[in-house]
Amino acid sequence: MRGYSDRDLGMNRSIARRDFLNGIALAAGAAIGPQLGAAFEVERVAETSPEYYPPALTGMRGSHEGSFEVAHQLRDGSFWRRTGDPAETGESYDLVVVGGGISGLSAAHFFRKVAGRRARILILDNHDDFGGHAKRNEFRERGRMLLGYGGTYAIESPAPYSAVARALIRELGIDVERLQPTNDRKLYRSLGLHPAVFFDKETFGADRLVMDPKHIADTEAGDSAEAADPWRDFMASAPLSERARRDVRAIYETKTDYLPSLSSTEKKTKLARISYARFLTEIAGFDPQVVPYFQARPHTYFGVGIDAVSAQDAWGFGLPGFDGMNLEPGPGPGMNRDCIPNEEAEKFFLHLPDGNASIARLLVRQLIPAAIPGHSVEDLLIARAKYSRLDEGRSSVRIRLNSTVVRVKHEGDPASARQVEILYVRRGRLFRVRSTQCVLACWNMVIPHICPELPAKQREALAAEAKVPIVYTNVVLRNWNAWKKSGVNTIYAPGSYHTHLNLDVPVSLGRYHCPRQPEEPIVVHMMRTPCKPGLPARDQHRLGRIELFQTSFETFERNIRDQLARALSGGGFDPEWDIAAITVNRWPHGYAYEYNSLFDEFWLEGGDVPCEVARKPFGRLAIANADAGAYAYTDGAIDQAWRAIQELTTASQA
Ligand SMILES: Cc1cc2nc3c(=O)[nH]c(=O)nc-3n(C[C@H](O)[C@H](O)[C@H](O)COP(=O)(O)OP(=O)(O)OC[C@H]3O[C@@H](n4cnc5c(N)ncnc54)[C@H](O)[C@@H]3O)c2cc1C
Repeated sequence: MRGYSDRDLGMNRSIARRDFLNGIALAAGAAIGPQLGAAFEVERVAETSPEYYPPALTGMRGSHEGSFEVAHQLRDGSFWRRTGDPAETGESYDLVVVGGGISGLSAAHFFRKVAGRRARILILDNHDDFGGHAKRNEFRERGRMLLGYGGTYAIESPAPYSAVARALIRELGIDVERLQPTNDRKLYRSLGLHPAVFFDKETFGADRLVMDPKHIADTEAGDSAEAADPWRDFMASAPLSERARRDVRAIYETKTDYLPSLSSTEKKTKLARISYARFLTEIAGFDPQVVPYFQARPHTYFGVGIDAVSAQDAWGFGLPGFDGMNLEPGPGPGMNRDCIPNEEAEKFFLHLPDGNASIARLLVRQLIPAAIPGHSVEDLLIARAKYSRLDEGRSSVRIRLNSTVVRVKHEGDPASARQVEILYVRRGRLFRVRSTQCVLACWNMVIPHICPELPAKQREALAAEAKVPIVYTNVVLRNWNAWKKSGVNTIYAPGSYHTHLNLDVPVSLGRYHCPRQPEEPIVVHMMRTPCKPGLPARDQHRLGRIELFQTSFETFERNIRDQLARALSGGGFDPEWDIAAITVNRWPHGYAYEYNSLFDEFWLEGGDVPCEVARKPFGRLAIANADAGAYAYTDGAIDQAWRAIQELTTASQA
């Protein structure tokens, strides 16, 4: 097997990948104002300019340069050494929200319901775009708009949406049931494409693309040869030992109860304390070679592999091996949050082409109608947001981007203070605003640094948050002929740099039309979690986060090209010519950490749950954001916003 040189891979090719803002290069290193976060400050196109359009930026996105440096200086204790007095904006609000993700935007929405439409609200966010993890990636290829999701993929949740979250989605104009058919679930199958597994030679000894037997068996492909015997390709060509191949199949087909002497509850208790990898090998007795095969299956949910996901969670989200175990659906012991299969929740699913960035955009449209033209979900997808309208003095709601909050403090005793002072850094300068109340809809672990007046126990609980690092890469291909020739539309690549690859989910809505012919350009979505198998989950997240901050775009690009070339070599993929643009959405602080029954003692034993201690209101402050519920889903972010606003409004009426 020959390796690809940089030239073969097209590393020298000019594509849309570096930091361009509608064609205007961003020059790194040009500081504006005093030295706050200046080393990373960039000479930006002014947000008031029509040229300012972050969704169209390619290259390294997600937590982009310029968004995190001030917060890291704060964490490292170096920030306050360099500051002078803040500049007075003279601005005063009824509510300041720290964090412009879905939780922060929802908090503003709920506050207006209580306080009225004239309530003055300011939302501050350190990124150059609103929406937080719900990020829109927008491309133009051959005159056509292509959308991708740089973060939050869909309306989906392991538990049913609460009445509050459902009502908000509905109020924004998203009718989940009505819109579901916009996703053409049969397109790829009708073109003869199926899910596949890519075995890489570094992990499995040979590069090989094999049809994914489980998924083929699940499809209604009917008369295709694969459906007649979905295991044929796998059994013939998967580069695993013969026993491991037989065992992978047996894991899908087993009806054995591996813990026959235990009740369902006792089994669940045991499964909550053993990893899925150990369940397969030690309890069920399968060949250890099955572990690398299944290793990355849970990455999309937990950001770690089967070494660090409990067997109970594996059962809960559908991994095989449990069919004979007679596990009763519904709660067992412990916290039982992720692990319960729930039909109602499964039905409430909707993917839009830019993912839940559409929810963020709809929230912004409600809060600041001038910023996003249009009136319906149908016209939303192609609407170009007017960033220059986000922060206008005449508007009751303002969104200020590129602004990192560094201090939130009551003016006086928190029990009796009438105002809160909020300091933030923007373009290297420190500013002050005041507000009657404040919602911290930013990440839990940031809060102790910006709000040292909180009680010590609460600060400790906030600092315990260990967000899950994750990368969502979007690659624009000039065509997808190689996918068609290979007969695949998604690839699970358990040993590769990105472990999940797929052709964009085909959704057409309003005037946005998804690609339907292999000759058309398309977005390919690739996911990577930089986990470190064998370590406790929080350590995996911490080390993965460091890795992401240290990985250059060039390294990502080389891996992307190499991986696509190798996986699709049979279809003639040409990494030099087929790639038109790359956007790497790097999220060192990605999913909210969800408690893990393998590592978090309180999961089974009970006691203080850190997120509940962490989210207590304090004076005129309340805490929203997904971390506050330790639940990495959009509905969690909305629910926490609702609770935070209830706390503030109840307190102000007392
Ligand atoms: C890659 C990815 C995919 C996901 N997919 C799904 C999915 O398919 N479905 C689903 O339901 N959920 C999904 N989630 C989870 C979902 O996105 C989150 O639960 C939700 O969007 C979180 O919203 P939030 O407002 O709490 O946090 P965020 O979206 O993170 O927003 C918080 C904002 O606060 C900002 N901030 C932090 N500190 C400061 C400061 N000091 N000053 C100013 N601003 C600050 C942050 O930078 C951020 O912009 C996904 C998450 C990720 C990372």
